[in-house]
Amino acid sequence: MQRPIVCQALLSHYVVVPLFLRLMASSSQAVVEAPSTLDSTDGSFVSSCIFCKIAASGGQSTNTSILYQDDDIVAFPDIKPAAKHHTLIIPKQHILNAKVLTSEQKALVQKMFDTGKKLMQEQGIPLDDVRYGFHWPPFYSIGHLHLHVIAPVSEMSFLSKLVFKPNTWWFVTSDYVMSRL
Ligand SMILES: [Zn+2]
Ligand SMILES: [Zn+2]
Repeated sequence: MQRPIVCQALLSHYVVVPLFLRLMASSSQAVVEAPSTLDSTDGSFVSSCIFCKIAASGGQSTNTSILYQDDDIVAFPDIKPAAKHHTLIIPKQHILNAKVLTSEQKALVQKMFDTGKKLMQEQGIPLDDVRYGFHWPPFYSIGHLHLHVIAPVSEMSFLSKLVFKPNTWWFVTSDYVMSRL
């Protein structure tokens, strides 16, 4: 009965991990967005950035339905949901990723997290079945900071659970990000 265990180990190590890395790579054309692509003086808006477009047009330019917005942040559904509810919360300002955040942006991150929580609460989703987190460089598809809010976790696929696995070297929790600021 050793064989299935070995097979499983081989499968996860040699098939799933490379597959996952390939998937991440193929969906990550913009893995690193060099500062030279910034086309505003303060880097607050980047015309080639899809999330900047969504934020600037209130979702109109991309036909995105906005779930919430205020002066600082915008929330909208993920185009490739990993579960029934999959919301992205972004700052309106173009911030590359969670790693470049500074202590001055602590309140912003808290607001993103609180808003995600509130949106889930409003839909009656049990908060203990929600996954929140940020991609960690270099593993992200869009070079504009976004908080993933996904529920129910219990309905996520094996691969989605792996892609959005908290506190791995590719995906981290809001708590971890806050603790660095
Ligand atoms: Zn942007
Ligand atoms: Zn993402």
